[in-house]
Amino acid sequence: MIAVEGFRDRTVALFGLGGSGLATAAALVAGGARVIGWDDAEGARATAAAAGLELRELHELDWRQLDALILAPGVPLTHPKPHWTVDLARNAHVPILGDIELFAIERHVRSPKSPFVAITGTNGKSTTTALLTHLIATAGRPVEMGGNIGRPVLSLETFAPERAYVVECSSFQIDLAPSVDPSIGILTNLSPDHLDRHGTFAAYAKIKERLIEAAGIAVVGVDDEPSAAIADLIASEGHKVVRISAVHRLADGVHAEGGVIWEATGGTRRRIADLAGIGSLRGRHNAQNAAAASAAALALGLDPATIARGLASFPGLAHRMETVGRRGRVLFVNDSKATNADSTAQALASFDRIHWIVGGKPKAGGIAALDGFFPKIARAYLIGESSDAFAKTLDGRVDFVRAETMERALELASVAAAADDAAEPVVLLSPACASYDQFKNFEQRGDRFRALVAALPGLDDGGA
Ligand code: ADP
Repeated sequence: MIAVEGFRDRTVALFGLGGSGLATAAALVAGGARVIGWDDAEGARATAAAAGLELRELHELDWRQLDALILAPGVPLTHPKPHWTVDLARNAHVPILGDIELFAIERHVRSPKSPFVAITGTNGKSTTTALLTHLIATAGRPVEMGGNIGRPVLSLETFAPERAYVVECSSFQIDLAPSVDPSIGILTNLSPDHLDRHGTFAAYAKIKERLIEAAGIAVVGVDDEPSAAIADLIASEGHKVVRISAVHRLADGVHAEGGVIWEATGGTRRRIADLAGIGSLRGRHNAQNAAAASAAALALGLDPATIARGLASFPGLAHRMETVGRRGRVLFVNDSKATNADSTAQALASFDRIHWIVGGKPKAGGIAALDGFFPKIARAYLIGESSDAFAKTLDGRVDFVRAETMERALELASVAAAADDAAEPVVLLSPACASYDQFKNFEQRGDRFRALVAALPGLDDGGA
């Protein structure tokens, strides 16, 4: 755990007592702060009380006596509730912070040389975070991974001179981290997702830009226009920028071309690593993630041979184009994490003949933007709330069935794919939708798919 010492003998309010809220409370208490917590859920309060935390309805506090309001990730900034905690804090000019801010302050004061890589972007954050962590570990250096992926940052091992921190940051967390100053900031890409929380795309992009701007070295994907514009802007301000691409050959930067990662400087390039044959990094989107992780690894001083070894041994992440089985020629791929059309596009781009299980709680725009991939779809199996809308989009262009449930979809798809005479038909779960019309979350959706695939008769474990 990283004790937060910056609030010693101060009083802070903490809203949201899930896993990362409790980790924040423990870190603050260990550093000598008084923490008063609250959560609207009784179960969360009970757990916190059992851990010895002081609990009070936050609107009952004297806000003039408080030094900060800490919000757990996921707590909205606006809420129709009377006495909404955030409004109380704003009215009393109490700063509203998140756990990444506390981490950043502690590092800044206690261990400014500890490598701290912050990763953000619309897609590819978790993959890039896990991959970079794996590369650093491959080099035999101590490394901790946390943030939006896995463990809360403040529950990571405390600072040691060589220890690196690789932290996935959502825009919300960056928003609540005004002094975050990573040694390396990675922006993978930007596309219009998550707009419900941040209002406009411009505001969303601005938040990401701030993280990158504050970084010692900015690693920026330039394959979409908004990110490329950010790279140009901050380079023009004199910041050190490493551009990365999976599409363009760069004169300066790190790019993937023909299954090879190159580092280019002033038009001269050196070969860093081969991606061909690495199943966990299949697809152009993963070439972008691999380029981003490699660029950061080079900036941390890793040598190309180590990077190549790390890329080749990366196990991949569950629910992101995860191969969950093979039956004869048929490959089964779980891409449950693809909750928008943009993510699904990456999966559709990666295969040639697709039996596509799609649907759920739709996002704005649905799957219309995926029409370029329609010729590769052998058949679509519609599940969830989006079925009517998606049927309309597909009608007359792609063969589809309304399967309603995951069970029925897999049953139909596995039979049809087995009869498909393509070289490698793929049964792909890549829903382009949120999961919560039928599932608790995307993990549960992917786990169900994986379990159903495992139960199919005659499955060899062709996995991974
Ligand atoms: P995040 O953490 O940003 O949500 P993940 O690494 O978990 O991203 O990947 C989620 C999904 O997004 C993947 O299943 C894949 O379909 C898609 N994806 C991954 N990397 C990229 C990328 N660089 N660009 C576009 N889509 C991507």
